[in-house]
Amino acid sequence: MKTEVKALVIGGGAVGTSIAYHLARAGWDDVMLIERDELTSGSTWHAAGLLPLFNMSYASTWIHKYSVDFYKTLEAETGLDAGFFVVGNLRMAQSDTRMDEYMLYASTAETCGVPYEWLSPRDIRDRWPLVRTDDLKGAIFHPTDGYINPADVTMAMAKGARQRGVVIERRWQADAFRWTGDAWDVTLTKMVEKGGNLVPSDEQVVITAEHVVTASGNHAQRTARMLGIKMPAIPVEHQYVVTEPDPALVEWRKDNPQHPVLRDADAKWYVREERGGWILGPYERGAPARFEYDVPESFRADLFPLDLERIEEEYMSMIHRIPSSEHVGLKDDFNGPICYTPDGNPLLGPAPGLRNMWLAEGFSFGITAAGGAGHYLAQMMVEGEAGIDMASVDPRRYGPWMTTEYAARKNEESYEHVYLPHFPDEERPACRPLRTSPAYDRQKARGAQFGQANGWERPNYYAPEGFSDFDSRSFRRGGWWQYAVEEARAIRDGVGLIDATAFAKHVVKGPGATQFLDWFTCNRLPKTGRITLTYALTSAGTVRTEYTMVRLAENEYYLISAGGWAEYDGDFLRKAAQDKIGEFGYIEVQDVTTQWGVLAIAGPKSRELLRPLLRDADPDSALSNKRFPWLSTRNIELGMCPVRAIRVAYTGELGWELHHPIEMQNYLWDRLMEAGEAPGLRLVGGRAQNWLRQEKSYRAFGTELGRDVTPLEADLVRFVDQSKEFHGKAAMNETGIRVKSVTLLIDGPDDADPWGREVICEGDTRVGRLTSGGYSVAFGKSIGMGYVRPDLAAPGTRLQVKMLNRFWPAEVVAESPYDPGNERIRRDG
Ligand SMILES: Cc1cc2nc3c(=O)[nH]c(=O)nc-3n(C[C@H](O)[C@H](O)[C@H](O)COP(=O)(O)OP(=O)(O)OC[C@H]3O[C@@H](n4cnc5c(N)ncnc54)[C@H](O)[C@@H]3O)c2cc1C
Repeated sequence: MKTEVKALVIGGGAVGTSIAYHLARAGWDDVMLIERDELTSGSTWHAAGLLPLFNMSYASTWIHKYSVDFYKTLEAETGLDAGFFVVGNLRMAQSDTRMDEYMLYASTAETCGVPYEWLSPRDIRDRWPLVRTDDLKGAIFHPTDGYINPADVTMAMAKGARQRGVVIERRWQADAFRWTGDAWDVTLTKMVEKGGNLVPSDEQVVITAEHVVTASGNHAQRTARMLGIKMPAIPVEHQYVVTEPDPALVEWRKDNPQHPVLRDADAKWYVREERGGWILGPYERGAPARFEYDVPESFRADLFPLDLERIEEEYMSMIHRIPSSEHVGLKDDFNGPICYTPDGNPLLGPAPGLRNMWLAEGFSFGITAAGGAGHYLAQMMVEGEAGIDMASVDPRRYGPWMTTEYAARKNEESYEHVYLPHFPDEERPACRPLRTSPAYDRQKARGAQFGQANGWERPNYYAPEGFSDFDSRSFRRGGWWQYAVEEARAIRDGVGLIDATAFAKHVVKGPGATQFLDWFTCNRLPKTGRITLTYALTSAGTVRTEYTMVRLAENEYYLISAGGWAEYDGDFLRKAAQDKIGEFGYIEVQDVTTQWGVLAIAGPKSRELLRPLLRDADPDSALSNKRFPWLSTRNIELGMCPVRAIRVAYTGELGWELHHPIEMQNYLWDRLMEAGEAPGLRLVGGRAQNWLRQEKSYRAFGTELGRDVTPLEADLVRFVDQSKEFHGKAAMNETGIRVKSVTLLIDGPDDADPWGREVICEGDTRVGRLTSGGYSVAFGKSIGMGYVRPDLAAPGTRLQVKMLNRFWPAEVVAESPYDPGNERIRRDG
C-alpha cells in the first residue's frame, strides 16, 4: 500500500468519491481514497436519488447544477450507466404564498441559467392525469431535473477516478491525525468482519498526505473529535416508503414516458415513480437526530425501524394528491440517517484552525451536491479559490461557541423546515436565544423582533406589543415593513440607535503588525487615530473580507468586519499572520468580538443626543469636525462608560459607533435612552439599516462582497492603493472587469421589494443579478444593488428587474444616490 500521497480523501460515499475524481481531473496525480467499509455503504446506498435543482442559495444552485450536468457525461467517460433519468420535477403549490416562493426561487434559478416552466392546474391535469389538481394554484416545472441511482453514479465516479490514477482502498479506517508541519500523518486501521460487525484489526499503517479531505458522512462527529474541532454535522432520521405497483400508473405508462418527480411542498413530501409504484419521501415533524456522539460499530449499511405513525399525515396527503395510490400496498421502507447542519448547507472548505485539512461534511442532499462539491472543492484545493463564492458553505461560518446539543436540535429543525415556505424574512426558533448582547432584555422590552446570525441575536426591527413576527412574514412586503420605514426615516431626519455588537472584531498588534497589514489589505493603512475601509483579498484577487480598520497606535490595529463571521474572518487572519511572522516579525491576533459591545448612533441629531453624556473639558466642541473629524477614532467618556468612539455610519448619516466594554453595555444603554428622550431617539433594527446603506451604495459582505468578485469589479477602486504591493494584487489586475457593481432604483410593484436574488435583464436578456434589495425611503421606491455586464453599468442605463414573474423598469444610478457628496455625514456641529 502506498504510504505517501498528495491528497488523502476519507470516505467512499458519493461526496468523497466525487472529490477524489475531481482532484485527479484537476491535475493531481497522487490521490488516494480510503473507505472503512465498502464504497456507498454510508448514507449513499439508501438515498432516493433525487436531484432537485430548486435551491434558494446561489452557491448551492451552482453546486447542484454542476452535478446534474456532470452526471450526464459520466457514462460516455466511464462506460458505466449512472442510472440518470431526466424525468423532470414538478413542484406544486397549494397557495398563493407558495407561488410567490416559486417566483422568487425562479429568479435565483435564472441567475444561474437553470431552466423552468410555469404550469397551471389545468396544464398539470392535461399532462399528468393521475395528479389531483382541484386545490392547486399552479406549479413550477424543471425539465432538466430527475433522479439517479446513487450507487451507480458513485461507482461511475469511482471508475472515472481510477482511470485518472486515483487509488481506492477499502476496509481501512482513518483513526488518528497528526500534523507534522508540512503534511498530515494519518493512521489507518484495517477493518475486519466479526459476527456481522465491522471491527478494527491490529493491522495499522500511517499514510503521509500533503492534503486531507474528510467526507465521513454520518461519522462526522468522530472525525471532528479526532481533529479536535467542532462540526455541526449530525444526522437526522429520514424515511421513505415504496409502494406496490399502482395499476393506474402502469396503465398510463403504456403510452407515456416516466412520470416526473412530484413535490407537494405544502404537504411536505416528494413522490417519484419506482417500478410501477411510487416512492414517497416525507419531511415530517419530529424526526430525531442520531449519532450525536458516534456511530455504533454494529451500524453498517443499516437502517432504523420504520416509524409509519410519524409520516401518517404525509402518507394521507399523497393519497389525496394521487387518488389511485389509495389501494396499493407498501412494498418496502427505508429509514436512514441523513446528515444535516443548522442551516441545511454542507460544510465544504478549509477546516477551522488546521492547515491543508478540508471538510466535506454535513450533506443532506449529498447525491445532488456530490458532483458540484467535488468540482468546487478541487478548484479551491488545486487553484487556491473556487469559481463561486463558497462562504455560505464554508465550515468556518460557525464558531467554537457551537455545541453538540445546539447542532442536534438545530439540525432537527433544519430537516423539518425543508418544505416549509422559505420566507426571505424567516427567522427559525430553535435554540434561541443563545448568544445575546447584554442589552437583549432591554431591547426585547421595547419591542425588538430579533433575527440571528451565527447564533447572535440582533434586532431586525421594533414593533408594538402584540405584534407577531411569525405572522408577518411574506415574500412581498411583510407586516414589519412599515416599522422598518419609520426607523429608516428616523435616522434620516432625527436620530436612531442600532445594536451592532455582533460585529466581528480583531486586534492585530506587535512589531510585525504594520508591515503585515500593509501586505494583507489593499488600501493605504490609516494614520494613528484614523480609520479606513479596506479589503483582504484571496490569492485569486477577489474579496475575502471587508474591514473597517482603526489604527489605535503605531503597531496596533482594531479590525471590524461583518457581524457573525468572527471565525471565518479570524481563521483566515490568524493563518496569514502566522505565515508572515518570519518575514515581518511578531504579530499577535486577538479575537475580541465578545469583549466589546457596539451601539451605533446615527442621524442629524446624533450630537444633540451624545453631548449631555460627554465628560470632557469642553463637551460642546468634543464632537465637532475639528476635534473629532469624520473617519477618526477617539477615546471618550459617556457618563461613567469609557468608549472607543468611531466616526463612521453605515447608514450614511452623521453618526458614531460606540465600542464599549461589553460588561458596561446596560449602563451605557440606559444613559443613551435617558439622553435620547429630548431628541426623540428611535431604536432601529437591521432591516432599516440594510435599506439605508443601499441608498449610499455601501457594499455588504456576503451579498455584494465575496470571493467571486474583485474590489475593482465591486467598483471600489478608491479603496485600492495600486502604488503598493498587497496579497492578491496581481491576480486582481489580471482578472480584469468581468462584471460591475451597480445601484438601481426600481419602479417595482406596490406591495413588494426585491430581496437581492433577482435577475437583471436588458429587454428579456439576462445581464446580471441583484445581490441586495429593499425599499428606499429617500426615493420612495424599491432599491437594489447587484452586478451587471460592465458595458451596462453607466448611470442612466435603463434595465429591468424580474420580480414576481414580471419585468419592472430599473435605472442604474450614480454611486451613492443619497447625499453623493457625503455632506450630511461630514456635517459640523
Ligand atoms: C432515506 C434517505 C433518502 C435520501 N434521498 C436523497 C435524495 O433523493 N437525493 C439526495 O441528494 N440525497 C438524498 N439523501 C441524502 C444522501 O444519502 C446523503 O446526503 C449522501 O449519501 C451523503 O454522501 P456522503 O458521501 O457525504 O456520505 P456517506 O454516503 O455516508 O459516505 C461517508 C463514507 O465515509 C466512510 N467513513 C466514515 N468515517 C471514516 C473513516 N474514519 N475512515 C474511512 N472511512 C470512513 C463511511 O463508511 C461512509 O461510506 C437521502 C438520505 C436518506 C437517509
